[in-house]
Amino acid sequence: MPEPVLQQAAAEMLDWHGSGMSVMEMSHRGKEFISIYEQAEADLRELLAVPAHFKILFMQGGGLAENAIVPLNLSRGGAVDFVLTGSWSQKSLKEAEKYGQAHVAASAQSEGFTHLPAPGTWQIGRNTQYVHICGNETIHGVEFHELPDLKTLGSDAPLVVDFSSHVASRAVDWSRVGLAFGGAQKNLGPAGLTLVIVREDLIGHALAHCPSAFNYQLVADNQSMYNTPPTYSIYIAGLVFQWLKQQGGIAAMEARNIAKAQLLYDFLDSSSFYVNKVAKNCRSRMNIPFFLRDESRNEAFLAGAKAANLLQLKGHKSVGGMRASLYNAMPLEGVQALVAYLREFEKTQA
Ligand SMILES: *Cc1c(COP(=O)(O)O)cnc(C)c1O
Repeated sequence: MPEPVLQQAAAEMLDWHGSGMSVMEMSHRGKEFISIYEQAEADLRELLAVPAHFKILFMQGGGLAENAIVPLNLSRGGAVDFVLTGSWSQKSLKEAEKYGQAHVAASAQSEGFTHLPAPGTWQIGRNTQYVHICGNETIHGVEFHELPDLKTLGSDAPLVVDFSSHVASRAVDWSRVGLAFGGAQKNLGPAGLTLVIVREDLIGHALAHCPSAFNYQLVADNQSMYNTPPTYSIYIAGLVFQWLKQQGGIAAMEARNIAKAQLLYDFLDSSSFYVNKVAKNCRSRMNIPFFLRDESRNEAFLAGAKAANLLQLKGHKSVGGMRASLYNAMPLEGVQALVAYLREFEKTQA
């Protein structure tokens, strides 16, 4: 979280803009909260340059719930395709299998998810209802730096993108996207809010057994208030959107994220003590997994990092090693401090 956002939230906690209420105490249908909601939506649309023919939905359930909600709304009882690039796309596939015929169009599993299968090799079904990709694999540290253009691959199917862990870190080419979804908690605000941005023509085809609260049509028709939305999370996300605008918007964030990631990758590549195994053309700017070549030093590494106030560096248990997450709110100074520690630790172990 950007610190100015937390400070503003603290200052407004008991009395939002002289309303005499905390945002938590507002009715979601009252004019105060409606104004917060409308501002947040408008700011997000501007920041991400979302075209008018896409709806922005503020939902709940996180990225994992969307793994079910997307097939319930978009599969129309037909086949759907998945490109497997790491743990998250694997999870999405598993969930979609419960709701219809889910196929693997391509997979990088046999190479340990260290590269992206080239789009030209994807086996996209002729009648597939959509193709799902994970834009940034949070655990494996693999990111699409260009979204695939399914039309050039001979498919009219919409592209579904899980952008949970890199939303608002870079621009989105909406001409290639049918639907993008993401939990807010990595780059947009606190947990509890799920963002869905969906092309209008894809709405309105939910399966009969799709829960009403998860039916995109009902959610869109009710301005994301078919049921009570996560009001406080929307408010905080709205403050983050304003902060992003003050930082110069997405282009400025993207430039900053490139610089942050470059700093860490350049150091890792120059070192024989640490290693990142992901192919250079798809290395994530947000999540950088790396290993100590001598893994018996892992615990000493983490203890020293903690003492230097560098937290949450332990890699996901499915991959092991270390992982640095450089989300939008992480300043360049944070990465500089990490690189200084990496260098220092290597020296002390020589
Ligand atoms: C964190 C994450 C999710 C899971 O989101 P929840 O909000 O915990 O359901 C899904 N996809 C990706 C890529 C993630 O990084």
